[in-house]
Amino acid sequence: ALIITDECINCDVCEPECPNGAIAMGEEIYEIDPGKCTECVGHFDEPQCVVVCPVECIPKDPAHPENNDQLLAKFFRLHPDK
Ligand code: SF4
Ligand code: SF4
Repeated sequence: ALIITDECINCDVCEPECPNGAIAMGEEIYEIDPGKCTECVGHFDEPQCVVVCPVECIPKDPAHPENNDQLLAKFFRLHPDK
């Protein structure tokens, strides 16, 4: 999963881009639900939130390291119809 750092300026552009609905406003800044973030694996070649973020504040979450197989498995859990 990726994580939004405190450099987030709450510009709102990433939230609608997430194909998994993993991004939501938190108490002070936007937050990513690691249970829903597949790093866009299964949907896109690159993380869509990272593509649109104007301040580059969305790195990989060191607390939730995952390989491609794990991310793809999460994608299929989130989208059982695929
Ligand atoms: Fe959503 Fe993709 Fe960003 Fe994860 S990497 S929060 S799935 S847009
Ligand atoms: Fe924050 Fe970046 Fe999302 Fe804007 S695009 S709300 S700065 S994480």
